[in-house]
Amino acid sequence: MGVMRRREFLALGALTALSASRRGRSAAARSASAAARVVIVGGGFAGSACALRLRRLSPQLDVSLIDPDDPYLTCPMSDAVVVEERRLSAISAPRSGLAHAGVRVVRDRAVGIDAAQQRITLQSGGSIGYDKAVIAPGIRFIFGTPAGYDEAATGQMPHAWQAGAQTQLLAAQLRAMADGDTLAISVPKGLMRCPPGPYARAGMLADWLRRHRRRTKVLIFDSNNHFPRQDVFSAAWQELYPGMIEWIAPADGGSVERVDVYTRTLYSSSGAHRVALANIIPPQAPGQLAVDAGLASDHGWCPVHAATFESQLVADVHVIGDACIAGDMPKAASAAASQARHCATAIAAALEGRPVPAPDLDSVCYSLVAPRAAFAIRGKFALVDGEIRQVAAAAESAADRTPSAQRAREAGEWYQELRAQCFGH
Ligand SMILES: Cc1cc2nc3c(=O)[nH]c(=O)nc-3n(C[C@H](O)[C@H](O)[C@H](O)COP(=O)(O)OP(=O)(O)OC[C@H]3O[C@@H](n4cnc5c(N)ncnc54)[C@H](O)[C@@H]3O)c2cc1C
Repeated sequence: MGVMRRREFLALGALTALSASRRGRSAAARSASAAARVVIVGGGFAGSACALRLRRLSPQLDVSLIDPDDPYLTCPMSDAVVVEERRLSAISAPRSGLAHAGVRVVRDRAVGIDAAQQRITLQSGGSIGYDKAVIAPGIRFIFGTPAGYDEAATGQMPHAWQAGAQTQLLAAQLRAMADGDTLAISVPKGLMRCPPGPYARAGMLADWLRRHRRRTKVLIFDSNNHFPRQDVFSAAWQELYPGMIEWIAPADGGSVERVDVYTRTLYSSSGAHRVALANIIPPQAPGQLAVDAGLASDHGWCPVHAATFESQLVADVHVIGDACIAGDMPKAASAAASQARHCATAIAAALEGRPVPAPDLDSVCYSLVAPRAAFAIRGKFALVDGEIRQVAAAAESAADRTPSAQRAREAGEWYQELRAQCFGH
């Protein structure tokens, strides 16, 4: 065991012993004598923002955050890394900001939740007791769709839908393309992380290819009949990359049924398509822990009480971010952070015996159609008949719907602000 690992192990041991000694006392009794314990699993945008907000709202709370990874690599701006506009280090968010704010960062993986004992078990063997738990594990990929696309296939046909090694692989394959080659992006059916993401990626890759491999084509195989802001994306592609990007609807063979990893061939109802680079985005579901802990419904995602983000299936456990069912909210980093802020407010209120204020939720997605041209998709959400519903197209203006350099600059500023809000720097 290295020095860091040993230190972490000792800290975790102390934590486990502390929580064990507290076991059996009610949260109310504990709050009178000791800090109530909130344990957060997953330190992405959702979990980290929730931890920071809880510390700010109630500095007396004992807040722990469990995540095996440090630093966290953000998916937002990861396509900028693929096209050499940013370095990987520019999308790395270290955990030091959380620790600085008084969050106890536990570098481990949660493997189970004992809801009866209110304990979270860890891969390293220990466990941590909680009064309230927040589960924010993001997504996992459903392999086998298309047929032939398993975990090993990601080494040949990257999804790059999780930032890190996959981002670097997509970047390397892009650079290895020859002029005149074809690149394919396959979009899965159904709910997914960052719904406008594949189409923004198509523009970013096309911009790089236009400058470096100008005769290359980008094919988007889509399992869906429509996509967000289809009119805006399509007009931008026509203007910026005439004849270069082709969107293929399901009826025209857009739904990829099978892949052959070795020949880089995609099979759909329109036949076999051999390409130089295949970016296959598989269907998605909540992180495995959510399923193992009984937080996911038959639909696959995690149902929550919209007013508090507490699980509908397990008491005192809240689910936020991409893993939860949040009505009309998209699976986006800005939405995850907004849910996290409200969840923290709800938990602090519950622990202090105060009523929970009505949620006031929002999201903004800046979609880059080229490194220096973006448009914005804004949403504002509230409780309507117990569900999270979009209440208006927010402050979305005509300027938001028109790709511009101004919105691209704002996208950079938004990213920096969101990082500060979620990771403390
Ligand atoms: C290419 C791309 C571009 C995107 N661009 C944008 C954008 O411009 N704007 C935007 O708003 N959104 C964007 N998104 C979406 C955004 O990345 C996600 O919506 C956001 O990351 C969701 O946050 P989360 O905290 O729910 O999950 P994640 O960010 O995935 O974080 C989950 C965390 O949980 C940890 N974890 C998982 N299981 C366990 C466990 N068992 N124990 C401990 N820890 C665990 C993981 O290590 C991870 O750190 C983009 C996504 C992609 C793929």
